[in-house]
Amino acid sequence: MAVRKILTIPDPVLYQKAEPVAKFDRKLRGLARDMFETMYEASGVGLAAVQIGVLQRLLVIDLEDQGFIKGVFINPEVLEVSEEMQEGEEGCLSVPGLSVPHPRPRWVKIGYQDLNGTKRTVEGEMLLARAFLHEMDHLDGKVFVDQLEPDMKLEFAEDIERIKAGKPPRESKKPAYRRARSA
Ligand SMILES: [Zn+2]
Repeated sequence: MAVRKILTIPDPVLYQKAEPVAKFDRKLRGLARDMFETMYEASGVGLAAVQIGVLQRLLVIDLEDQGFIKGVFINPEVLEVSEEMQEGEEGCLSVPGLSVPHPRPRWVKIGYQDLNGTKRTVEGEMLLARAFLHEMDHLDGKVFVDQLEPDMKLEFAEDIERIKAGKPPRESKKPAYRRARSA
């Protein structure tokens, strides 16, 4: 097991579309373990393989401390989202130090495969829904700071440029869910 390097914006790999996972083997299980280790090391609650430079469609989430679930989600697809939205701050290990209010659907239903390749579905609301949608965006080469609402984009433009230049944002802030974890 190993902690891998987390890519940060504007690394070009973060803007590429990941390929479906086809082999459910030992190597995949090793990758998932490394992803958990890497995520814990960074006090994160979700990580997509893309963020460690592996262009495959899998992600890990651990929101057990927040009352949700922990798991590996392979080839995930959104099956349903609620029309009802949630407010809340969002952060990303690939955009270190930034936390920005970002609306998301309140509830999602996801279809995915587990480490054995078995097809499953899972539903999640609030923080779990946010995590699923955020990490799944990574699989399509999307980083959440490029999708902010116009006023937020303007407010955080300077911080985003600073992070792209390898500097901390003006006021380094972690989202509340991550602060809780590292406390
Ligand atoms: Zn992210």
